[in-house]
Amino acid sequence: MSKRVVVIGGGIAGMTFAHTVKDKLGDQVEVTVVTKDPFYMTGPSKPLVVTKEQSYDRMVRGYEEAMAKGIKFAFGNVSEIDPANRKVKLVEAPSRAARVKEVEYDYLLVAPGVVYDGSSINGYEDYSYQVTNVYEPGRLDLLYQKVWSVKEGTIVVYAPPMPYRCAPAPSETALLIDTVLRYRRVRDKVRVIHVDANEKPQPGPTADIISNIMKERGIELITSRKIVEMNDKEVILDNGEKLPYSVLALLEPNRAPDFVIEAFGGPWLEVRSPQDLRSVKYDDVLAAGDVAKLPFPKNQEIAFESAKFAANKLFEEFGEEPEKVKYWFIGWIYVGNPEGRLESLSIQFSLDFTTKPPKATKDPEPKRDYTLQKDRWEQGYLNKLFHPKDW
Ligand SMILES: Cc1cc2nc3c(=O)[nH]c(=O)nc-3n(C[C@H](O)[C@H](O)[C@H](O)COP(=O)(O)OP(=O)(O)OC[C@H]3O[C@@H](n4cnc5c(N)ncnc54)[C@H](O)[C@@H]3O)c2cc1C
Repeated sequence: MSKRVVVIGGGIAGMTFAHTVKDKLGDQVEVTVVTKDPFYMTGPSKPLVVTKEQSYDRMVRGYEEAMAKGIKFAFGNVSEIDPANRKVKLVEAPSRAARVKEVEYDYLLVAPGVVYDGSSINGYEDYSYQVTNVYEPGRLDLLYQKVWSVKEGTIVVYAPPMPYRCAPAPSETALLIDTVLRYRRVRDKVRVIHVDANEKPQPGPTADIISNIMKERGIELITSRKIVEMNDKEVILDNGEKLPYSVLALLEPNRAPDFVIEAFGGPWLEVRSPQDLRSVKYDDVLAAGDVAKLPFPKNQEIAFESAKFAANKLFEEFGEEPEKVKYWFIGWIYVGNPEGRLESLSIQFSLDFTTKPPKATKDPEPKRDYTLQKDRWEQGYLNKLFHPKDW
């Protein structure tokens, strides 16, 4: 009888794991992906919506081709994992009368990504309607509307304490906002302040380059300061400083979803090692992607690589050869355009975690070609995972 492999989260880690396992184990397994929406929206190019350089049709993919290949899907919001009885509970969607459904597993991969949690900021609950950012589609649209209409005032951008998803995205946000304001010829009337809860803009190896570019663009940088309070007009930092804002681009602190914390503890799902992604508590539960507690940045390449390592652990159980994989990546950071043209430049860096300490490389010169390379890289992932004939 085939083993039931259930995957929570049809994103980068979940889809990488589902394809890898189905391809190698075939009829030995029944792979079911349980995921919230019947579509996936990519992350990396979301910031370019602000400068009108990316459109939604290039960012969204469906699961139909993966279904045609034999991977099963259950669409719904997972509300509970019962690891003692090997069950996942979900509220089916889309449905008017939402039903709770149970899915049973022999092996479970947990890969639902992160939640953005503003509860540590006083006033957040009442004033979260003011929050824009590049992370969530609705808030991204609000940011777009505001950046393209603001005429004067102050824009505050906030990066929470690490770890959070995609280390450079808050800095990218500040630099792309600067570009739009230059394009609209209102830059001299709008202050842009980047507040970073960390010692320097992330990721660390590129902090000097990003800080210099922010200085050249007149973006005010405040580091090692958390936003602890907000209302509809100002944010308050942990040293008591008040920053009035016209537009607030705030990323909340990140953590694992509640159903993960309730089943395994938190704030991230603890695994045995970066190569052995079984939960420290259960042999039949694996984790990959942003939800896993790993000593690496939370990004797409690490999500892909951790999902491959998770699949290799399963292959051991089936007596199959592991696939070759290692933790390293090349990344690109959008830095906008100093002349206010809607053609963003990017810087390139790489991190290799196979050496101790990790080896970093970087090119401090912003280039248009790096933005185009990032686009090819992102589209390549989307094609590979959602048009599996390219896998
Ligand atoms: C603005 C932005 C910019 C980024 N830039 C970069 C970049 O330049 N480079 C880079 O490498 N990475 C970047 N990333 C990060 C990258 O997108 C993530 O690290 C990667 O997607 C993590 O993969 P994952 O599988 O863990 O999570 P995801 O890809 O987010 O997938 C999680 C899936 O789980 C589903 N899910 C969540 N909760 C539930 C639930 N309760 N029940 C059922 N399903 C659920 C979600 O709907 C989603 O489909 C960026 C992300 C964002 C948002």
